[in-house]
Amino acid sequence: MTDSPQKSPEWFPIQPEGLSGQSDEALRESILAAEIHPLLCSLALLTNDHALIDPRFAPLVELPAAGPPPHWGLSDSLVEEARCLAFEHIGNIRDHINHLERDPSASMLEKTLAFAIGRDHGVSAGLIRRELDLPHDPGAPSWCAGDIAPGRQFRVAIVGAGMSGILVAHRLQQAGIDYTVFEKSDNVGGTWSQNTYPGCRLDTPNFAYSYAFAQNPHWPSEFSEQRDILKFFDQIAEKFSINDRVRLNTEVVAAHYQDETGQWQLRIHPAGKALEEYVYDVVISAVGQLGQPKIPEIAGAEEFAGKAWHTARWNHEVSLRGRRVGVIGTGASAYQVVPAILSEVAAVVVFQRNPPWMLPTPRYHEAITVAHRRLLSALPHYARWVRFFQVWATIRGRWDLVRVDETYRHPVSVSAANEALRQALEQQIQRHYADRPDLLRSQLPNYPPGAKRMLRDNGVWPAALKDPKVFVETRPISGISHSGVSVTADGSDADNQYPLDILIYATGFRASEFLLPMEITGSRGRNLHEWWHGEARAYLGMCVPGFPNFFCMYGPNTNLVVHGSLILFAESSANFIMECLKMLLEKKQQSMTVTDQAFQAFNEMIDHENTLMAWGVSTVSSWYKNDSGRVTQNWPLSIDAFYTMTEKPLPAHFSFEMLPS
Ligand code: NAP
Repeated sequence: MTDSPQKSPEWFPIQPEGLSGQSDEALRESILAAEIHPLLCSLALLTNDHALIDPRFAPLVELPAAGPPPHWGLSDSLVEEARCLAFEHIGNIRDHINHLERDPSASMLEKTLAFAIGRDHGVSAGLIRRELDLPHDPGAPSWCAGDIAPGRQFRVAIVGAGMSGILVAHRLQQAGIDYTVFEKSDNVGGTWSQNTYPGCRLDTPNFAYSYAFAQNPHWPSEFSEQRDILKFFDQIAEKFSINDRVRLNTEVVAAHYQDETGQWQLRIHPAGKALEEYVYDVVISAVGQLGQPKIPEIAGAEEFAGKAWHTARWNHEVSLRGRRVGVIGTGASAYQVVPAILSEVAAVVVFQRNPPWMLPTPRYHEAITVAHRRLLSALPHYARWVRFFQVWATIRGRWDLVRVDETYRHPVSVSAANEALRQALEQQIQRHYADRPDLLRSQLPNYPPGAKRMLRDNGVWPAALKDPKVFVETRPISGISHSGVSVTADGSDADNQYPLDILIYATGFRASEFLLPMEITGSRGRNLHEWWHGEARAYLGMCVPGFPNFFCMYGPNTNLVVHGSLILFAESSANFIMECLKMLLEKKQQSMTVTDQAFQAFNEMIDHENTLMAWGVSTVSSWYKNDSGRVTQNWPLSIDAFYTMTEKPLPAHFSFEMLPS
């Protein structure tokens, strides 16, 4: 244990010297490529010029369903005026680079924030400060273990080195707590290391998909490709020295709580070696929700003579060139795979049950221009404001568009706002398939927007479905034989078979089977999976009664669908866990367990709130629900609600056990 807390080192530092060699023309080009509000806000902080944050330039407050319009609704003439102002200032900064003051005054920061988001937004100041990262890394623990519990042996095991595991490892390291991360695969990065299928890329805005304390101004795209996201996590694990503590190719197969000592015994399996056992004070599961592929049981599947695999286990050994390929599913994975393999394959049959709702996102595949990248990497504060505006848009998100109005009556939609969204999205689909009435019929969803994940629409999916190589089959699959997939026409016996060389299961994940196949027994031998009995629940998605000192990151009911970002949530979860550990160390306790009452009250509230969301009331199939139909995955409240609930643990919601003497 060390005895001074550490701030995160500066990550991808901005280099204003990059501005110094730029011609007026290059600066103009960058300003033209820039997002106007982040540009105004960053320059305001650098220059203290109030003209830059004149209310005339203020961004839209109420965002349309499709998300922020270009320049957040500012008129062309005001954008032009703002650009002229920005050009004067950037020219000045370039010419006096050595006198640049990068630390903004508190009052200018406050005024700039008020310009950017107003004052009546109702979002916690702490959340805003953390996401803006000004001052740097306010989410870092302000304490360290060596200080509050000198001499105490205290070890934490983290299961999984994905986005959540890396984050909580970093926080433990900052607080000087001894930890080990066990990762069953051969790389860090979790989902971004496992999903290597063609076309895999982010479908939430990229700047917001980075830790607030390690912002990356160098994203190549607004929705980057899998390899770039994986690189980000690889670099974080390397530069923050987390790699030294990660045991790759090592699966945690079991965790048993020992009542006598108040510690966890972990059984681990290093690939190809014998089982090993270790003892830890705390276990943090960071295994994610989407790690176990789901392959549906289809009669005859084992007889298929071609190659078959799941999207999350892509077989890179097999070429698709000239092959007849079947893709089962039309979720987020299939949606990216099908267009990406078209140029290679001879033909694709897409087996569809439910078509996706698509959100217009024209720039989905666009790269960030060189001119824009110059600004992102050289103008202090600019990238942080680009990220902040993305985060801000997702904090509000589309939550109110998918919330149920119990007084509203409609055969599909759940509220007037949901119906307005449905109509707008439907019109877009009608435009896409105006020339293909057959596809239009099959591509119009009959469930409310928000009941399943909405996918990014830049026209690529409709273009793929219209490609002569592609056939969309909507009749149910009746079986698989050695030569292909059969469908049955509306329950009749007249089978129709598609001969295939390759079958790709884009059929999602066993999401509601949290933490399987790990065997976890808590206090008095309570078996987690038996106790859950298919109904995974946790207090704040993290704590389960009878499982002392056991925490889940991205646990039950913490998935986000229409607002926020999983990274933002992970930062809140990591904060909560760190605060719990601080309580244990400060109070000289060995263990803490959430009480039954707190657990039950929380879950009753969550279940109720989920019945008020489109995904809760709709009967359409989705991975948000378990077999019994309960929403096991999603967070139904605001982003700020989670931030507030996870800011500090409430001691009354836990029972504690003293350190054995
Ligand atoms: P998914 O959303 O669960 O989709 C599975 C698909 O398989 C659905 O279309 C489903 O049909 C179909 N399916 C399942 N069993 C079937 C059967 N027996 N016969 C026919 N069709 C069947 O899985 P996913 O596409 O892998 O995506 C899961 C989640 O991963 C996403 O929602 C997202 O959160 C995440 N993801 C993110 C990204 C990204 O950020 N870029 C990319 C991929 C995935 P129904 O629709 O009828 O149920």
